[in-house]
Amino acid sequence: NLSDKLDKAFHILKGHGKITEVNVADTLKEVRRALLDADVNFKIAKDFTNKVKEKAIGENVLTTLQPGQLMVKLVKDELTELMGGDVAGVNLSGNPSVILMSGLQGSGKTTFSGKLANFLKTKKNKKPLLVACDIYRPAAINQLHVVGEQIGVEVYSEEGNKNPVEIAQNAIKHAKANGFNVVIVDTAGRLAVDEEMMNEIANVHKAIEPNETLFVVDSMTGQDAVNTAKAFNDRLNFDGVILTKLDGDTRGGAAISIKSVVNKPIKFIGTGEKMEAIDVFYPSRMADRILGMGDVVSLVERAQEQYDEEEARKLQKKIAKNEFGFDDFLSQIQQVKKMGNMKDLIGMIPGAGKALKDVEIEDDAFKHIEAIIHSMTPVERSKPSVLDAKRKNRIAKGSGTSIQQVNQLLKQFDQMSKMMKMMQGGAGKNMMRMMGG
Ligand code: GDP
Ligand code: MG
Repeated sequence: NLSDKLDKAFHILKGHGKITEVNVADTLKEVRRALLDADVNFKIAKDFTNKVKEKAIGENVLTTLQPGQLMVKLVKDELTELMGGDVAGVNLSGNPSVILMSGLQGSGKTTFSGKLANFLKTKKNKKPLLVACDIYRPAAINQLHVVGEQIGVEVYSEEGNKNPVEIAQNAIKHAKANGFNVVIVDTAGRLAVDEEMMNEIANVHKAIEPNETLFVVDSMTGQDAVNTAKAFNDRLNFDGVILTKLDGDTRGGAAISIKSVVNKPIKFIGTGEKMEAIDVFYPSRMADRILGMGDVVSLVERAQEQYDEEEARKLQKKIAKNEFGFDDFLSQIQQVKKMGNMKDLIGMIPGAGKALKDVEIEDDAFKHIEAIIHSMTPVERSKPSVLDAKRKNRIAKGSGTSIQQVNQLLKQFDQMSKMMKMMQGGAGKNMMRMMGG
């Protein structure tokens, strides 16, 4: 993938103590090849490397102390610039603010509608209404209702009405009458761009005059994504792009090309199937990610969001007093789980995505551990030292695990308690923070 290729490109630089004009050229050639492999348009890739080269010459890369690092920085800055530079928000000035979703079938419109509603509700204190305008498949309306129920957001739909313009207009009336301040209109897509679909979405667009029109695109579709984006933009002149399915190691080529071709900002990314798997798009973080440095900042931010200061203080006291028990362990696990899908999280750790590519990480990795702890009595949880063979046997039976698994957990718990005690100071605190408590 792109990261591997760029690794190789930078390796050329790192391998030489002193950078020469020859290896700057070699590196840029590799960078260009990497971009092309990641489905970046040929012209864009060429312009890109030319710009970096100009800057490298301008900044006298060859005479600086750490030319390799400077080159990495130049490439990173240019990538950031190419993907939009600054963070772009969603226009919420209307009352209600109307947001229209567009994109091909399967791109993730319905899922993203739910994620955005949830994001606006929980992070921006909004009262959103979801609108089902995909009138072709009854299952599509149902899918939105399921999503709405999951996040506690009302869904507006009209059974039997085959006119999406009407449904959208009625939904906005309904929103006004019932105090909703954001209306998110989910629409139908086709497997490929066709006139009928374009006319339909253009009609809805014209009738409801949305404050924000978003184009949703599956980031795994590569070069096709660019053509689709162009087709939709020609008709709708949309305001922003949503890149979905950027889970784990997905390459970022689409992000680079789309921004260059339609010149519209990428606003959010989808990083999983769960409703929480939504992130604001940060061009510089995406550049880091593409460059294989991992999106550490996002990971830390997400960990901190879930981090409860109060809980942490209590926990620290317990550890200091040697009172850390299995109940605390269980709540730690729940903290980690709140941060999202394990695979998503691991994908954001630099290098880990690559290293763990073939390892199956199940979402319910903690299932056995939780079952074992649930089978313990309160006394056993707070004082694990009472666990003798008889008790362990009972716990194994009760949790549907084996004695070995129980012993393994006890060993892990013991190690973890020791480690936590050791990590009481400075760096340790940050580490605990990362671990969710
Ligand atoms: P629509 O046809 O545009 O409404 O697309 P859907 O929202 O129904 O999504 C199509 C499929 O992609 C579903 O199975 C979703 O669960 C999945 N999906 C959507 N967004 C993401 C994402 O960010 N990551 C992953 N892994 N799957 C996603
Ligand atoms: Mg849909």
